[in-house]
Formats: sequence, structure tokens, C-alpha cells
Amino acid sequence: MPELFIHAEDLCFTYDAEGPDAQPALKGITLDVYKGEYLAVLGHNGSGKSTFAKLLNLLLEPTAGKLTVAGMDLTAPNIGEEELLQLRRNVGMVFQNPDNQLVATIVEEDVAFGPENLGIPHPELRTRVDEALQALDMTPYAQHEPHRLSGGQKQRVAIAGILAMMPKCIVFDEATAMLDPSGRREVLRTLRMLNREFGITILNITHYMNEAAEADRVIVINDGTLLADGSPDEVFAQRAILHEVGLEVPQCTELLFRLREAGVEIPGERISSAESCADLIAAALKRRAEKGGEQNG
Ligand code: ADP
Ligand code: MG
Repeated sequence: MPELFIHAEDLCFTYDAEGPDAQPALKGITLDVYKGEYLAVLGHNGSGKSTFAKLLNLLLEPTAGKLTVAGMDLTAPNIGEEELLQLRRNVGMVFQNPDNQLVATIVEEDVAFGPENLGIPHPELRTRVDEALQALDMTPYAQHEPHRLSGGQKQRVAIAGILAMMPKCIVFDEATAMLDPSGRREVLRTLRMLNREFGITILNITHYMNEAAEADRVIVINDGTLLADGSPDEVFAQRAILHEVGLEVPQCTELLFRLREAGVEIPGERISSAESCADLIAAALKRRAEKGGEQNG
């Protein structure tokens, strides 16, 4: 049985709940995430994605509903300092702007900063920093100044700092949004590696549909509620619903839908990656050619 990692039931959050301008940002999210899953989280601006992320390590406290993360009830009253540290070690966050996350003037000091603050003792800290730098292919840059690195390298330093805390889960909140395409690919490869090699549960909040297509599971948040939840193929099959709320599907999926609308018969459900779309289209073309051959022959 896979181990439950996040359990949210009717989870709600309202900013300024007591104030005159109370605005509900999450309006009842019910969701189970299992250990080792790789999720993409989609939704347009203001839909509640970052709010959801911040609830997961108590940067914000739920206003209603249930939330359990890594076996810890986050709606329990009086959560102690030690428990909170444990939670922050378990659930790491990587944000959009790498420059805002780098605090030290030397790469390895930066990687050490988070785990040191969370109480990792000294001889162990050294090992963890070295291992994290190695995992992120940043060992040659250990003594470099972070501000001179590329965007993708900076994000990898930020991720190394999280990895050194040995988290069970990492939430990437639009962590590739400010990167150029090669930086984005670098970071995306890292996500897959963290998931496959370290078994870390990944939540990748992203606007890039091709990033979502790489995940094992996609959830769509719209206006504080869960609009869709399934494999990339299942979620992107709901193209009309996504379009209604202003979201796109990957370009290869869009092409497939348009060919179908134009009357080209392309059966198959594997519609979310360029490779699988190409396979479906190639198979359809081949069948067509064979049919044509029979008719002519
Ligand atoms: P997303 O990450 O999907 O763009 P957010 O979770 O940041 O969405 O925001 C959800 C809603 O909560 C939006 O309506 C936003 O304006 C509001 N919101 C976000 N942060 C704050 C805040 N600090 N104070 C008040 N409202 C906020
Ligand atoms: Mg956001």
C-alpha cells in the first residue's frame, strides 16, 4: 500500500478572515497525495495554488477543514516549535525568484544555511551539504559566488539547500517561471531526479503545460476549488473544461484535437506528450495508407 503523505478534506483558507475584506482563497479542497508521487499543479493566476502550497508547511494556517501532512495534523491547536521544525524539514519549498532565496555569499554556505537553521548539527551538516551539491551537479561551484551563476544554476543551489534538509516532499512554486528554456530544462531534469532517485514527493506548480505532461498526476485548481485530478492524459482530455477557465493544453494535444475536429480519425488516449501524440498520428497515417493500398489493389 502506498503511504498517504498529504490528506486534505474540505480544506479552506481565507486571508484576513476576521477583517472587513475577508477573501476566501481556498474553498474546500479534498485531495490525497501519496508518498513518492510527482504532481503538477495547474491553475491561472489567483486560483489559490500558492495558498495551498503555503498551508502544507504551515506558512499559513487552515481556516477550516482537515489537513494532515507527513502524519502531522496541521489543524491541531498548539503545534510546538519542535514539531514545526520537523514539518519544515519534511516539506521544502522552492519559489520563483532564485535571487530572493539565496542568502550567503558563497554557494556552499548558502546550501548550509537552511539545514543549519533547522538544527542539523555540524559534522553531519558538512556531509549533507557535500552530498546535496553533488546530487545537483554543483560541486565545482561550491566556492563560487551565487550571484554570478546562471538562473538555472541559482535554482539548483536553492534546491540543494532544501535537499540538504532531507525532505520527504518539495513544493516548487513556479520555480522555472523566471528561467530561460535551458535553465527550465535543467531544473525540470532535477525534479525528475529528486523524485526517482530520492523518492521525494514532488508538487510542481507551473504554467507550462509541457512540464505538467511530465508529471505522473495533474491537478487543476480553479477559484479555490479542485477542477480536475488525474493522469496528464486524463486531465488534458478535458480540453473544453480547461479552455472554459482559460487554461491551455500542451501544443501536441491541441494539434491532435484539431486534427480530430477536422475529421482525421486518430483513436487513442495517450494525448499529453509529443512522443505519444506522434505515435498516434503515425499509426493513423499508416492505417490510412494501408486502406488506400487495399482500395487501389
Ligand atoms: P495563485 O498562486 O494560484 O496565483 P494565490 O494563492 O497567490 O494564487 O492567491 C489566491 C487568492 O488569494 C487571490 O485572490 C489572491 O489575490 C489572494 N491573496 C493571495 N495572497 C494574499 C494576501 N497575502 N493577502 C490577501 N489576499 C491574498
Ligand atoms: Mg502563485
